[in-house]
Amino acid sequence: MRPDLPLPAAYTVAELRETVAAWRREGLTVGFVPTMGALHAGHLALVTQALERADRVVVSIFVNPAQFAPGEDFDAYPRTLESDADKLAGAGAHLVYAPSAFEMYPQGFSTTVSLSGPAEGLESAARPHFFAGVATVVSKLFNQVRPDLAVFGEKDYQQLLVIRRMTEDLDLGVEIVPGVTVREADGLALSSRNAYLSDTDRKRAAALNVILADFAQALEGGGDVATAQTAALTAAADAFDAVDYVEARCADTLAQLPEGPLDRPARVLAAVKVGGTRLIDNRPATPR
Ligand code: AMP
Repeated sequence: MRPDLPLPAAYTVAELRETVAAWRREGLTVGFVPTMGALHAGHLALVTQALERADRVVVSIFVNPAQFAPGEDFDAYPRTLESDADKLAGAGAHLVYAPSAFEMYPQGFSTTVSLSGPAEGLESAARPHFFAGVATVVSKLFNQVRPDLAVFGEKDYQQLLVIRRMTEDLDLGVEIVPGVTVREADGLALSSRNAYLSDTDRKRAAALNVILADFAQALEGGGDVATAQTAALTAAADAFDAVDYVEARCADTLAQLPEGPLDRPARVLAAVKVGGTRLIDNRPATPR
């Protein structure tokens, strides 16, 4: 059943292409914001950014099975198309694209994008399947929508760099625009997965941003990279139930940093578990 939504919706590639083709005939530019739904103010800020740069904005909502491993939260992931559509209409998006898994991966689907460079380490250590799933679906979405630009949140900083690299390497011809991370009052980055947190765990989760801010400050103050990283890792191990990584990397490639004080723009990144919920966040660290 197709729900009654407050903005135009496309559920198939053909419907999507028809709408986008009509815009193109009018000479309009197209911005694109890919999401998995359960939309919050962070997603809507990306829509606002896209609207500032393009005449029409498409938002996709697709919980992509290819980027979840067995045992991850694919089944539990919130699916809230109607309330998402209300938010998108309020934000001024022009089209919601909500394809089915069958539309995206018909029987016989056999192709995967293979990645290296910024896709190596960090998220890939804990979720080896993840970026291949993301890159494959994003390249499909780019070919379906054919946007002029697409906005990706810095919240998922490694993903942003992976997509930027892939777009350049495969000549996809889409401008990749970074979107600033929207946070709660206590600094916790908005995430659809925050809905999984109990009240107690929600309060504990705020420490992630504090630990990363202290880590960035230590680096910016001229502290040794390895020493600052050890201090941040210790703080994270004290605050959380498990730590996947807390690391400083080069800001534009995610390559390892040289030893000693920071001599180039960096990013501090972390992934931790609070109760059963995995949280990721990151911040810039720029030498003075
Ligand atoms: P998701 O639906 O979680 O796959 O995210 C869709 C897009 O929203 C990605 O580009 C994310 O980086 C971005 N995003 C997620 N959380 C935030 C946030 N708190 N602020 C800004 N963008 C975000």
